[in-house]
Amino acid sequence: MRPEILFPLFAPATSLKGVGPKVAPALEKVAGPLVRDVALLAPTALVHREPTTVERAREGETGTFIVTIESHQKPRGAQPWKIRTFDETGFLSLIWFKGHGEHLERSNPVGARRAVSGKVERFNHIEWQMAHPDYILDAARVGEIPRIETVYPATAGLASRTIRKLALEALSRAPDLPEWQDPAWLAREQWPSWRQAMEALHNPVSDADLSPLARPRRRLAYDELLAHQLALAQRKAARRSTPGPIIPAGVLADKVQAALPYRLTGAQIRSLAEVRGDLLSGERMSRLLQGDVGAGKTVVAMLAMADVAEAGFQSVLMAPTEILARQHYETIAQPLADQGIRVIMLTGRDKGGPRAEKLVALADGSAAVAVGTHALFQDDVEFHRLALAVVDEQHRFGVSERKRLQDKGEGVHLMAMSATPIPRTLELTVFGDLDVSRIDEKPPGRTPVATRAVPMPRLPEIVERLRQAVKAGAQAFWICPMITDNEMADLAAAEKRLGELRRALGPAAVGMVHGKLGASEKDAVMAEFAEGRLPVLVATTVVEVGVNVPNATIMVIEQAERFGLAQLHQLRGRVGRGRRESACVLLYDPPLSKIAEQRLDILRRTDDGFVIAEKDLELRGGGDPLGLRQSGFPDYRLVDPAAHRDLIAVAADDARLVLARDPHLKSPRGKALTVLQELFDWRPAGLTDAG
Ligand code: ADP
Ligand code: MG
Repeated sequence: MRPEILFPLFAPATSLKGVGPKVAPALEKVAGPLVRDVALLAPTALVHREPTTVERAREGETGTFIVTIESHQKPRGAQPWKIRTFDETGFLSLIWFKGHGEHLERSNPVGARRAVSGKVERFNHIEWQMAHPDYILDAARVGEIPRIETVYPATAGLASRTIRKLALEALSRAPDLPEWQDPAWLAREQWPSWRQAMEALHNPVSDADLSPLARPRRRLAYDELLAHQLALAQRKAARRSTPGPIIPAGVLADKVQAALPYRLTGAQIRSLAEVRGDLLSGERMSRLLQGDVGAGKTVVAMLAMADVAEAGFQSVLMAPTEILARQHYETIAQPLADQGIRVIMLTGRDKGGPRAEKLVALADGSAAVAVGTHALFQDDVEFHRLALAVVDEQHRFGVSERKRLQDKGEGVHLMAMSATPIPRTLELTVFGDLDVSRIDEKPPGRTPVATRAVPMPRLPEIVERLRQAVKAGAQAFWICPMITDNEMADLAAAEKRLGELRRALGPAAVGMVHGKLGASEKDAVMAEFAEGRLPVLVATTVVEVGVNVPNATIMVIEQAERFGLAQLHQLRGRVGRGRRESACVLLYDPPLSKIAEQRLDILRRTDDGFVIAEKDLELRGGGDPLGLRQSGFPDYRLVDPAAHRDLIAVAADDARLVLARDPHLKSPRGKALTVLQELFDWRPAGLTDAG
């Protein structure tokens, strides 16, 4: 139940003055449906409106001017409405691109003195103009124009100034909440109370106040991080307290291992031992196997599955796509079958009789391992004794899917696998509820991929090199990014490239997969490529990060500067899997910005996905170029992943300590913390259970 003290904040945003049916949808888009959401919407900038004169105006800057109306120029055709004005130092034209003409003329008669405020620009290099002034008032009322104005993320139909008004009203409804932070820590960081921090958030007086490093902002970010970390710790504790089937290490896994054509790496051995420790513990396992593409995670999962089978239980291995499921199946089916463990694959494509047979094998336990996609969650899929769920790239599965899988067996052990190189400093936010095993060592014998950045005008050269390489038997990926909002336009660009490459290399030498292709067509092309019959595969970024084609040695990525480094790294990881020399060409549209140059340079210098991700975070600009959201990074309100990353581990520790002392949050601080969790929607019950 929601604490009463939060009721005012959890009232609908429509209860704010002026939020009617017209404003509400726009407000919901920028902030959310509740007063709370408006209160937690952070301003993004400050506008200085200091009074100035035309003489002192500067291109692109905002200022407040006292002017006299000289004339109205009515628009002809598509021209804007224009009011010519002047002050003692020069002329300034005010322009409006739409509507209002007659009204403007009536309310601003010639000779009247007005205070106007807005951004000024030079028109035709000579004339100063202000398009759509933010303020136009009687000169006597100049005092009503704020000297500094806080800017909120506006949207169509909702101006920043309106949002500001609403935010201040929402703020006024924010109660004094009980302090949930440790007083010693607050004092050390010199952080204000929550209420004070909220006041400061909405009333910045200098640009420094807008920095994520400002104390009030850090406090609020820490609040949000702590709420989340606490929820993760609670979920972890809850999982631990559930019993899980006891699975001892067996001899079948040893036999599977002995039959492999290679030896496990030290990191694989260590990870397997950690997994086995969990499986034997009697508590449910929640473990993440984190490792770069090609590090050998699937093999570790396979050996754990052999233990599970020997103990008389079943396992599933779930992949987000059919292509990946098939590859996993191909990796594990034979080695397990050789030891008498039956593996089946179940995807959306199984229908009718064959599907029914597979379902029977799972229900009666004759199949000990199922590899598949979402199809494994369907209601009619029943298991005899499911004990282990291995989930590849688990953040790509929805909440309900994971829940449904969990419901297929009691105390099912969870093993998540991820190749998404989350920067280590952020790992706790994405995987904080899991124990982590890290495969930080690649199987031996892989040659690093020679990586080069090449400007687009040298494309013909690259195509010629590719032609020669293909003649010599090489295989290549050619990645065309999805860059616009218009999928069809992106596809057209990729198709154009396909045509060009076919002309240069021969029509049969190049195939293409993209998001609009049906599953079976996609699989057919992928299979042709994987079997070496198709030398070059043009792909939009739908090429799954896990696809394994050891014979492919060339990776060309167009518009590489537009990708997140982690994504580039994963794409590059598609090559360099065999013993042969591999190359990665990062094509870019010149000129490269300084940052873009540094970013691509990181890729040339290192092959460690975690180092790359961390550096990318450091160099990060605005937006979400890391694709953090895609990697399961939470959609925080006030946390800036780069600026606040030093707080993450602190919050995780803090949460752990709190729960150790006060597992049910019954102490005064514990109760205050439940208010905090509610405030940010990080109640443990509202969390998704990954298994
Ligand atoms: P991941 O799932 O981490 O991307 P996989 O388990 O699919 O990696 O392994 C990638 C490839 O490396 C597979 O072809 C696998 O057979 C091979 N491999 C795994 N472990 C080793 C090892 N220790 N030595 C050599 N090759 C290995
Ligand atoms: Mg894999």
